[in-house]
Amino acid sequence: MRQAASDLKAGRDELTELDRRIGDGDHGSNMDRGFTAVVAKLDDAGSPETVGQVLKLVATTLMSTVGGASGPLYGTAFLRASKVVDRATVDPACLVSLAEAATEGIVARGRAHVGEKTMIDAWQPAVEAAEQAAGSGDVLDVLRAAAEAAEAGAVATIPLVATKGRASYLGERSAGTEDPGARSTAMLLAAAVTAAEE
Ligand code: ADP
Ligand code: MG
Ligand code: MG
Repeated sequence: MRQAASDLKAGRDELTELDRRIGDGDHGSNMDRGFTAVVAKLDDAGSPETVGQVLKLVATTLMSTVGGASGPLYGTAFLRASKVVDRATVDPACLVSLAEAATEGIVARGRAHVGEKTMIDAWQPAVEAAEQAAGSGDVLDVLRAAAEAAEAGAVATIPLVATKGRASYLGERSAGTEDPGARSTAMLLAAAVTAAEE
């Protein structure tokens, strides 16, 4: 979470620029504000006992600080994920369940499917890659596979026409710009890899 906060701060202008082109230009500040608040909450929380407790704290913080479409979506993702890891460490199978639960939460809330130019275009391939990698790999392998797939999924949103969220108001003019939420998802998963490598 600390790595994510740092990466999202560094990526703030990139996310803002994407959202300026096909939205309202606030995704960078929304994510930076949310994860800055997450770090503050973690500092106050002492030492949570389980991964689920950390994820629940992240969820409630994002829901109350991020706003817009992405706040409730990421909030629901982390809340659903928090319910499947009632333990102090994660193994590959647990990581897969976590990613599946997060993605199901986003779909339950936003009703978007792959190809609609949303964060789901990064999450869904990430889950599929994680499922594949979990058979033979360790936690880092699973995270890397997920992050690579999210990266490719985010880039693949560039030519798409948005049919969900604010970008859909632009119709055909939404094509040619990467979806901001797909990019922030790729940043989050890349941060997980960086943190796990340390
Ligand atoms: P807002 O659009 O309210 O300003 P943000 O700019 O923070 O909120 O977030 C925009 C991102 O939210 C989009 O780039 C997209 O990835 C995501 N998004 C919007 N609507 C949906 C949806 N229905 N399902 C999944 N993701 C969505
Ligand atoms: Mg926005
Ligand atoms: Mg907004």
